[in-house]
Amino acid sequence: FDQLDGQIWFNGEFVPWKDAKIHVLTHGLHYASAVFEGEKAYGGRIFELRAHTERLIASGRALGFQIPYSADEIDEACNELLKRQGFTDAYVRPVAWRGSEMMGVSAQHNRINLAIAIWEWPSYYGSIEQRMKGIRLDMAEYRRPDPKTAPSRAKAAGLYMICTISKHAAEAKGYSDAMMLDWRGRVAEATSANIFFAKDGVIHTPEADCFLNGITRQTVIRLARERGIEVQERAILPEELDSFTECWLTGTAAEVTPVSEIGPHRFTPGEMCRKMMEAYTAEVTPKLATAEAAE
Ligand code: PMP
Repeated sequence: FDQLDGQIWFNGEFVPWKDAKIHVLTHGLHYASAVFEGEKAYGGRIFELRAHTERLIASGRALGFQIPYSADEIDEACNELLKRQGFTDAYVRPVAWRGSEMMGVSAQHNRINLAIAIWEWPSYYGSIEQRMKGIRLDMAEYRRPDPKTAPSRAKAAGLYMICTISKHAAEAKGYSDAMMLDWRGRVAEATSANIFFAKDGVIHTPEADCFLNGITRQTVIRLARERGIEVQERAILPEELDSFTECWLTGTAAEVTPVSEIGPHRFTPGEMCRKMMEAYTAEVTPKLATAEAAE
């Protein structure tokens, strides 16, 4: 992925993609002092850009550092880079990390770096029928940590160690992803997406008290409530899984992805999955200027 064409925004400069390099003694690499974001542009507009930027800054603070750019500067850098890259539908990846000036757990004065990469990511429009088949999830071996064990609600690189291990283990068994429980044994999320269930016209989703409260999750909850659908954010135990008829994942990359299986449990993507996929697609699609003016 490091050999693409185009540019990367790197500490305030636009540098050729292949030249956006860091040293092997980077603190972020050894000690996971790194935070990042995952955003998507639809039709040339980055969806919920400010919310992602604010989360990036908050994740940095959770790791004890201040990203040396304001939210306005970061937003502007993302928008300018999107224009320069020339994509309308794209994935946006800001990443901030402690640099390589000092080596050791303590690196109080190492520079806080920020880079932004954007690559093309065609939208999934039109593939709803394909996605309605649902993906298969394994049960992950690792659990989301107690907020007293790690800053578990930040989008911090270190928290992804168990996600990558779990996702690779699931893929090795032929699954698409894995569902993780939390430290208490409650249903938590997938390795890079939040999870939802439905039964009898009501949506149920785990309370986001020890994992990332996804921006897509919050959007889907709002869209459901705007449509008069009841959404319960609550503790969900694995024993309950068989009582739900539908299940889906939400995330910037996953969007709304129906799930057909979690280990021994089966779901049939149906009306609720379809409704939320359609609602989300409509929400992320920039409205034409004329349509907006007419509203
Ligand atoms: N949980 C994890 C672990 C994730 O990596 C993501 C993707 N950022 C999400 C949930 C969903 O978050 P969002 O909807 O903000 O992309």
